[in-house]
Amino acid sequence: MSGIYIHVPFCKQACSYCDFYFVTRPQQKGNYVEALIQEIQSKKGSVFTQEAVNTLYFGGGTPSLLEASEVSRIMDALASTFKLRTEEVTFELNPDDVTAEYLADLKKVGVNRVSMGVQSFDANLLQFMNRTHTAEEALRCMHLLKDSGIDVYSVDLIYGNPGQTVEMLEADLEQLKQFDPPHISAYSLTIEPNTRLGKQVALGRLLPQEDEQVEKHFELVEKALSEMGIHRYEVSNFGKKGSEARHNSNYWEHENYLGLGPGAHSFWWDTDGRSAKRWSNEADLKKYLEQDFKTRPVDGEEMNLKELAEERIMLGLRTIKGVQLEELIVHYEYSLSEAQSQYLERMQKEGKAVLGKNIRLTSKGLRIADAITLDLLTVK
Ligand code: SF4
Repeated sequence: MSGIYIHVPFCKQACSYCDFYFVTRPQQKGNYVEALIQEIQSKKGSVFTQEAVNTLYFGGGTPSLLEASEVSRIMDALASTFKLRTEEVTFELNPDDVTAEYLADLKKVGVNRVSMGVQSFDANLLQFMNRTHTAEEALRCMHLLKDSGIDVYSVDLIYGNPGQTVEMLEADLEQLKQFDPPHISAYSLTIEPNTRLGKQVALGRLLPQEDEQVEKHFELVEKALSEMGIHRYEVSNFGKKGSEARHNSNYWEHENYLGLGPGAHSFWWDTDGRSAKRWSNEADLKKYLEQDFKTRPVDGEEMNLKELAEERIMLGLRTIKGVQLEELIVHYEYSLSEAQSQYLERMQKEGKAVLGKNIRLTSKGLRIADAITLDLLTVK
């Protein structure tokens, strides 16, 4: 089973924290759709079409800037190229683009999961993030999603914003509670250097939140959502039972996936199962539009089993399931060293990890999952 990710690189304006690949000029949208369809069709007869595709994900940028008819054409091209056995088709939306009609059209072409970039219901925070939508639009969209009949909808939330108090976050969570959403992705704000926020921080015009405050936000999100029956299953992802995102689990569990569109990333195991390749399309719309997809070579990073095992540990430790020791031995020929076992026992004593058939982190450990992984992979 594999997944397909489609990158739609258009946005109305740049959010202050965002370092994804996007362009704010929509004029090339028609040409992009044509090029994307060519890229899809160029995969006919390739290794990527040999296994069934169980998840599709339209991400961005802003997929909801596509017309429903454009989405339908892309879906047709995918269906005539790949073996689609899709259990999950996710589509990212921005609140200011959504109408009941648009949601109904998405449903008609097979979308059964939508992910909406709300980020906050606080007018000042939305302005600070330079989002295009208002708090009223976010609320209107939540009502539309609830009535849309789409199986699962997910709401993105960002916490740990400079100036965001615990009370402000509580108000956002309280607002969410009114809608009883099946899935939430809650991200701690990361300040990337090449963003407007990053530049303001570098110039000393803005102070990031203290770690302690971010930790309080992390705890509050987990507590409030779990009271709504929405449980953390990955550092940033929370879902009701059965609403967990399968596409993302494919990434974490090292299933094959193919990324299409400018800047999209791919991962594919070699046929012998002893190495895999990671590559990405160039993040440049102009070059993407000029490409001859049939002759373009796949340049990427070849990863050996040890590198893959380490990445699997890193991804697995960010999830509530953790990573199975037997899987590491059987699929990756990777066993923990004495020093690594001792380190994990110490984490267990400190209440940060649980050891058994799987290694997994507790809520206390998940807060510092990346630091624990780094220690675990470098301990001597
Ligand atoms: S809409 Fe999404 S992709 Fe576009 S700038 Fe904002 S955060 Fe980035």
